[in-house]
Amino acid sequence: RVIVQQSEPSRTSDCNDKTGVELLCVVRALLKKIKRRVLVGDKVVVGSIDWVDRRGMIENVFQRSTEILDPPVANVDHLLLLFSMDQPKLEPFALTRFLVEAESTGIPLTLALNKVELVDEEVLNTWKSRLHTWGYEPLFCSVESKLGLDSLLQRLRDQTTVIVGPSGVGKSSLINALRSSPHASDAADVDNWFEPILGSKWFEDQRVGEVSTKSGRGKHTTRHVSLLPLSGGGYLADTPGFNQPSLLKVTKQSLAQTFPEIKEMLKANEPAKCSFNNCLHLGEPGCVVKGDWERYQYYFQLLDEIRIREEFQ
Ligand code: GDP
Ligand code: ZN
Repeated sequence: RVIVQQSEPSRTSDCNDKTGVELLCVVRALLKKIKRRVLVGDKVVVGSIDWVDRRGMIENVFQRSTEILDPPVANVDHLLLLFSMDQPKLEPFALTRFLVEAESTGIPLTLALNKVELVDEEVLNTWKSRLHTWGYEPLFCSVESKLGLDSLLQRLRDQTTVIVGPSGVGKSSLINALRSSPHASDAADVDNWFEPILGSKWFEDQRVGEVSTKSGRGKHTTRHVSLLPLSGGGYLADTPGFNQPSLLKVTKQSLAQTFPEIKEMLKANEPAKCSFNNCLHLGEPGCVVKGDWERYQYYFQLLDEIRIREEFQ
C-alpha cells in the first residue's frame, strides 16, 4: 500500500490533489529481477495508476537514508529503545548491549524506561544520574499508569520510529497505547488505522521475510510490519525491533564509537589524539581515553566478544 505524496497533474485524470490517496500496488517485475526489494517505509515511484480503482505499479525505489532488517523498514530516522525499571529489572549490561546495537545503526536514539510506577523515586533518581554519566538522558514512563506518554509522543513527532528492546518491557503495550491514544490520531477510528492518513509520506505495507523451505530450516518466518501514522506527523512501526542484539555489525574498531563516554573523552582531548591510529583504548601507550568510567568493564567485555567472533569468521 502506497500513500501518494506527490502526483504529476498531467498524468492524473483530473486536477484534484491526490495527496494522501492510498494505492494498492504491485511491484514491477524488473525490480524483483534485480532483487530490489521494496520495504515498508520506502519512497517509491508509482506508474500505471488507475485512480478509480486506486491501483498502481511500483516502478522504482528511491535511495534509502537508512535500512534496518529487524523489522525490515526503510528510512527509519529514530529508534526508541525501551527498557523497564522492573519486571524485568533494569540490568546495566543488557542495557549496554542494546545501546551498542542501537548506536551502531547510526540512527538517532531515545532511551525510555517504562514501568516507573513499580519503583520508588530514589531508584529513579539513582538511575537518572547513573545514565547521565553514560551520556544518556532517559525519558521515564509507565504505559500502565499513563505517565510520561505525552513527552514520548512529542519525541516521536515528525519522525519514523522503530521501538526496540528486550521482551517483557512493554513494547507492544506502548505501541497499542499510542495507537489508541486520542493524541495519536485525530480520527477516532482505531479499527481502520489507514483511514485518517493525511501524512505526506509514501509508504508500503507488505508481507516480507519469507524464508524458503529450501534453506533447510523449513521455517516460515513471515513478519508483517506497518507504519502507524501519529498525530503531528511521524510514523511508528507496529512491530518492535531486534530483541536479541547480535552486534554483528559492530567491529573492534567501531565499538568505541558506540560509547558516548569514549567519544566525549576523545573530544575533550582534542586536538590531542591517541598515539596509535587504531587504538582500542585499552591502556595502550599514548591513549587519551582513561579507564575510570563505569562502563569500561562492559566495553572491555564486548570487545572480547567481538574479537572472538572476528577470529572465528
Ligand atoms: P514486550 O514484550 O516488550 O512487547 O512487552 P509487553 O507489551 O508484552 O508487556 C509485558 C508485560 O508488561 C505485560 O504484562 C504488560 O501488561 C506489562 N506492562 C506494560 N507496561 C507496563 C507498565 O507501565 N507497568 C507495569 N507494571 N506493567 C506493564
Ligand atoms: Zn586510545
